[in-house]
Amino acid sequence: MSLDSYVRAAPKAELHVHLEGAIRPATLLALARRNGVSLPATDVDGLRRWFIYRDFPHFIEIYVAITRCLRTADDYELIVHELGAELAAQNARYAEVTFTPGTHRSLGVPEETWFRGIARGRERALADFDVEIAWVFDIARSAAIDFPERGLTDYTVGVAIEGMADGVVALGLGGLEAGYPPQPFAPAFDRARAAGLRSAPHAGELAGPASIWGALTALGADRIGHGVRAIEDPALVAHLAEHRIPIEVCPTSNLRLGVFPDLARHPLPPLLDAGVVLTVNSDDPPLFNTTLTEELALLPGAFGLGVAAIDRVLLDAVRHSFLPPPRRDALATAFADQLAALKAIHLDAAGARPTVDVSP
Ligand SMILES: [Zn+2]
Repeated sequence: MSLDSYVRAAPKAELHVHLEGAIRPATLLALARRNGVSLPATDVDGLRRWFIYRDFPHFIEIYVAITRCLRTADDYELIVHELGAELAAQNARYAEVTFTPGTHRSLGVPEETWFRGIARGRERALADFDVEIAWVFDIARSAAIDFPERGLTDYTVGVAIEGMADGVVALGLGGLEAGYPPQPFAPAFDRARAAGLRSAPHAGELAGPASIWGALTALGADRIGHGVRAIEDPALVAHLAEHRIPIEVCPTSNLRLGVFPDLARHPLPPLLDAGVVLTVNSDDPPLFNTTLTEELALLPGAFGLGVAAIDRVLLDAVRHSFLPPPRRDALATAFADQLAALKAIHLDAAGARPTVDVSP
C-alpha cells in the first residue's frame, strides 16, 4: 500500500483529453476497414509505431487520418462509448472532452451525423458506466487561418452554442500554436462567452508566454490548455497564481512533443510551489502511450509529491471544472470523502492526512 496505489484508486476528473486522440488503436483499425479507409498500418503494433511522435505536421496527419475513419453516427457513438469505458476503468467519473468539429466538417461529415453520434455515445457512457462527459468544442487555429474560405471559426462557435443543451461547456483553441497567436480569435471567443460558454484555449505548449498572455487578454481564458511554458515568465506565473487561472498539464504529451527533454526538467513542481492551480491530464492517451492514471501516478513517482499536493491536484480538477457550481461542489465533496476512505486503505498513519480541504 502506497501513494502510488492511492493515486491509482483515487476518483479522478479529466479536463484535457481529445476525443479523436483517445481512440483505441484496435477500434481505429476496425473503423478503417468498415469505411474502406487505408491507414499506414494494418495491425495494432504498426499503428503504435506510426503514432510515435515525429513532429507536429506528422501529428496533424495522424489526427486527420483518424478523423477520416469516422463516417457514420455509429462510428462516433462507438468511440465516445469506449472512451467512457476507459474513463470508468480508471475511476474517472467526469471528463471535459475536446472535439474539433471543423476537421470533421472539412472531411465531409455533416453536423447532424457527428452530433447525433457523440450525443448518443455520451448518453450511453453515463447509463452504462456512470461517467459524465461534457464537451469542449475547439477551433483548429492553423486550419482556420490557412483556409479562411472554410469558415471553420464561425462554424465551430455556432455548433458549440447550439450544443450547449447537449453538454458543450466551453470553446477551445487547438492546432498549431507557433505562428498562430490567439488574438484573431477574440471575436469568436467574445461571441461564445456572451452565449454562456467558457473559454479554454491551448496556449504555452509549443509557443511561449506571449501566447498565454494573449489567451488571457484576448480570449478571456478561464483555463489554459497546457500553459506549462508560463514558467519562462515569472510575472505570468504570479498572474496565474493570483487570479487562480488553472493550467491543464499533460506531462507525457509535453515530453513526446519535445516541450521538455525529461520529467526532471518538467516545470510541474515549481509551478505548483508558486501557487499555480494545475490539473493533470492525458491529452491523447493512446497516441502518447499513456492514460490519465499513469499521468497522475507521476505525481508521487517522478515528481515526488506528497499526499497533500496530490489531493490538491485531484480535487482542483473538480473545483475548476465547468460543471454548474452546485454539482461541482457536490462532486468535490464526494471526491474528498472517497479520498479520506482510500487513505485508510492505502496509506499508513504516517502518510495519511486527517482532512482534505475542499474550499475553492
Ligand atoms: Zn490538447
